[in-house]
Amino acid sequence: DINIKNIILETNRLLLRPFKMSDLNDFYEYAKVWGVGQMAGWLPHQSIAQSQKILEKFIEGNKTFAIVYKNNNKVIGSIGIEELRNINEEQFKKIKNIILEDPSRSIIVVSAPGKKNKDDHKITDLLYLIYAHLKYGVDAKNIFDIVKSRYLEIKKTLSLKIDLEKEFTLLEVGLKQKISEEFLVSRGEYFCAKLLAEYLGYDFVDAKNLIYFNYDGKLDEQRTKDALVNQLIKTKKIVIPGFYGCYPDGNIHLFSRGGSDVTGAVVAKALSVDIYENWTDVSGFLVTDPKIVHNPKKIKEISYEELRELSYMGANVLHEETIFPVQELDIPINIKNTNHPEEEGTIISSKCRDSSQIITGITGKKSYESITIIKKPKVQKIKVIRDVLSVLDKYNINVEHIPSSIDSFSLIIEANY
Ligand code: ASP
Repeated sequence: DINIKNIILETNRLLLRPFKMSDLNDFYEYAKVWGVGQMAGWLPHQSIAQSQKILEKFIEGNKTFAIVYKNNNKVIGSIGIEELRNINEEQFKKIKNIILEDPSRSIIVVSAPGKKNKDDHKITDLLYLIYAHLKYGVDAKNIFDIVKSRYLEIKKTLSLKIDLEKEFTLLEVGLKQKISEEFLVSRGEYFCAKLLAEYLGYDFVDAKNLIYFNYDGKLDEQRTKDALVNQLIKTKKIVIPGFYGCYPDGNIHLFSRGGSDVTGAVVAKALSVDIYENWTDVSGFLVTDPKIVHNPKKIKEISYEELRELSYMGANVLHEETIFPVQELDIPINIKNTNHPEEEGTIISSKCRDSSQIITGITGKKSYESITIIKKPKVQKIKVIRDVLSVLDKYNINVEHIPSSIDSFSLIIEANY
């Protein structure tokens, strides 16, 4: 437990010491100034009484230093000491509790670790970066070590036995020889699944032995189904790495970014499960973007079609292609939040029984260009549109929207073509 009661730290200019009640006037003097507290995430104090209450808490908590400017012996700020939380351990524990709470949660698909905080990097991004370095002959040891230490840290905090060190040594050797980008990037999910499997006491099954693609990159549904069904005859509780599978020759192939959601859906369909739970860090879909609208309502139920529409237009909770496999068998998807498992989340299914919602959601995308074409009054508009569209078709350019008036029409096109 943190206790700064008898601690004093001193620099040339400053003294850090525990607060005293006699600091109240100094405290209020800076805490009431507009803009000061905002920098640290709190609003200016409205009265000295408010400062007094907070000061009492500081003194009682024994975690907050007063910053004293030695020149005039005035308190000019505060600094709180917080314990460093072990995010890895917390997340894995949360996941374990959720999985073990319901014995029917028997097939687990994982994605690679994401960011630990907003300044951190996703493992998958780092793996792509390593490959980009290698491609141009630039040393990537530093990045490789960051990735490696992320996993070894998880192993250590959870006291797991798996010999990841050996696997990383082999991978490092592989980097110097010929290794495919897809193989390297797939290791993000692979290592994570290995760690989680041991932590849960489940069996790890490599996706390269379960998810099969044809050479054209399309899923080989029958082979995948057979492999999964056979696997479940052998073991009932498994962890599968998401995001990848293999070509007929055994080489690794990835789904597109965010594709662990798709692996989950493919597995759900192949095994005709009752429900596909997709656990993430939000409690389902909101009617609109919370970064733009304060506290929007949650969407409790939504149909597959509506969801695809919203995902396409920018609501990126779930990979767009997640819907197809489960929709065919009408398997509902429940989006749930690992940080708030008690919340209901959003149910995606063929029927949406929530009739209270007339408009399901509002979403939007930025970066569009508009090309306006004005025709001569006598030329038929439909013909001009057809000619223009055929040019766009030739260059494989998608048109989002074609507003038109009597002698003109516009083409709304994504700007980054
Ligand atoms: N790790 C992969 C990605 O970042 C796949 C996923 O997260 O679903 O795209």
